[in-house]
Amino acid sequence: MTYREYYETGRAVLAEAGIAEADLDARLLLEFVCHTERNTLLAHGEREVDARQGKHYRTLIAERAKRIPLQHLTGVQEFMGLDFKVNEHVLIPRQDTEILVEEVLRYLHDGMSILDMCTGSGCILLSLLHYSNGCSGVGVDISEEALDVAGQNAVRILGPGFGLPDHIVFQQGDLFEQVEGKFEIIVSNPPYIESAVIHTLMPEVRLHEPVEALDGGEDGLEFYRRIISGSRRHLTGGGMLFLEIGYNQGEAVSLLMEKGGFSDVTVVKDYGGQNRVVYGTMVSGQGL
Ligand code: GLN
Repeated sequence: MTYREYYETGRAVLAEAGIAEADLDARLLLEFVCHTERNTLLAHGEREVDARQGKHYRTLIAERAKRIPLQHLTGVQEFMGLDFKVNEHVLIPRQDTEILVEEVLRYLHDGMSILDMCTGSGCILLSLLHYSNGCSGVGVDISEEALDVAGQNAVRILGPGFGLPDHIVFQQGDLFEQVEGKFEIIVSNPPYIESAVIHTLMPEVRLHEPVEALDGGEDGLEFYRRIISGSRRHLTGGGMLFLEIGYNQGEAVSLLMEKGGFSDVTVVKDYGGQNRVVYGTMVSGQGL
């Protein structure tokens, strides 16, 4: 069978299964299996696919049709132009979260210290370290399995020498439980979906991504309260806190930050025009 025939079969199966981006996913899986590039379908659609690769493709299409996320089949997700390993223990990096990283980068100077709370795959912290010089980072997560993924990504993104203890450390703990010292930047994409909304999410998210990375408690704000109060103790005077938020949480999280002693609290929209990030500065001398 030719490359194009496999693609056509794959996309038909995915469309039948109700996958919204059937064309895209069918193409990406074929590229993954055949180690080909984006233009292969157009330029070399008539090439024969060997039987072993064809079989592998059919298996992956069948799994995708069962709503297993594409990234769990390929094992990677691109974020900030870097390739991150992912599995079922971490939230798959979202494009929206690039806005959070870009906002931090506007304020990040060489040599600053960063704390990434709820680091998951490590995509936020590792992107920040990759795109800066001489910064150091601590990534915290409650999940050992997530930290294992983050550690592998650190080697992947920053190179095998990343283990220098003062450059980057991943730490297991319930938010600030194990955190020591102060940081100039704290960043977090915490769980922020209201508990009652979780069952309405797409099956890919609801059934295959870690619910502890999504569920923000009854009002979705539980982690913001705890992170804002912990940040008071762990930010240097003039340090900044950056939070990813849900589209309807701009006002509530801004208020929590202002009440928590942050000034110049700012809400930033994503490319879809939805509120996505809130950040502010710890007023000097307020850190306890
Ligand atoms: N934006 C994520 C979603 O789509 C939620 C991430 C989070 O709770 N931090 O599902």
